[in-house]
Amino acid sequence: MAFKKFERKPGGDFPRQMFQGDWTCADCGTKITELPFQPSADRPIYCRDCHAKRRSQFRR
Ligand SMILES: [Zn+2]
Repeated sequence: MAFKKFERKPGGDFPRQMFQGDWTCADCGTKITELPFQPSADRPIYCRDCHAKRRSQFRR
């Protein structure tokens, strides 16, 4: 009886869905063409850098 083991790839367990579009960062104005999450219309969109910056600032 063959039993297949799940192989974990280094760097990611599963493929991430990316959302394609044309946005502008609300903080620095960088063009954003890809987001790892579904952007909501009533929320400002930030680029990777600003998103990380805001997250680190949020937890003081
Ligand atoms: Zn930005």
